[in-house]
Amino acid sequence: MWDLFGFKKRAAEKARRKEIEEREQMRLSEYRFSLIKKEFQILKERADKIVEEKDNRNRKEVEETNSICPKCKSKNVNDRIQRLQGEFKGSGSLSGMGILGSGYVSGSSHSSGKIDTNEINKCNDCGNEWKKAERKWNYQSKVLKDQFSHLRYILDKYKEAFTAEIDKNDLNEKFASDDEKREYLLNEIETGWLSWKKDVQEFFKGVSIETIKEVAEKEAFKYDGWEAEWFWKLWNERVLEERLGFKHLEIK
Ligand SMILES: [Zn+2]
Repeated sequence: MWDLFGFKKRAAEKARRKEIEEREQMRLSEYRFSLIKKEFQILKERADKIVEEKDNRNRKEVEETNSICPKCKSKNVNDRIQRLQGEFKGSGSLSGMGILGSGYVSGSSHSSGKIDTNEINKCNDCGNEWKKAERKWNYQSKVLKDQFSHLRYILDKYKEAFTAEIDKNDLNEKFASDDEKREYLLNEIETGWLSWKKDVQEFFKGVSIETIKEVAEKEAFKYDGWEAEWFWKLWNERVLEERLGFKHLEIK
């Protein structure tokens, strides 16, 4: 049977057009994803840099705490392990037992345990003893999450400012209208008392709103459901664009 009215031909044409369109959509979404991955890489590198800075700062602090007596500033300091071993029973707290620093208890929480040893520093000049400082370690994923938490905090501040209302019964109310109050709060955020704002703008600089969204969804709050929920409640692309100067992904 031939195609008397051209139905088959037109249907074939339509299917072909649809296929081309789908292929183009696929290409665009793959391209979009590759751009997002590239921008995510930038964020990871920035996080690594922050980790490095924090580690350096912490190393210096630890070295100082362990090498200079806080009382007489002498550098004639010794490492020591203070033996504070003993048994304890029951669920009572260990505070007030006169343990230097924080003696901790190993074993299950409320049965019995041993008080562990405590590393301390001792000043050979004045005899002062103080708890030995330990290194704190930072991670890329933790820094990344911190930055997203700071962003959320800023979004929260904006929401607060946009929705602020005056209390007409409050004798101390400084503002005559909601608008006046909102403008004041917005101005406070913008003029920089919120130092995190600049840090966050710096951290996400040049990274698109789409990437911020994708990373928040898939990485930043991966293990914290409620924090993610909180973040999405405050998510506001207008604020990101108009107040923080972030831009949408450009796909060509
Ligand atoms: Zn001393």
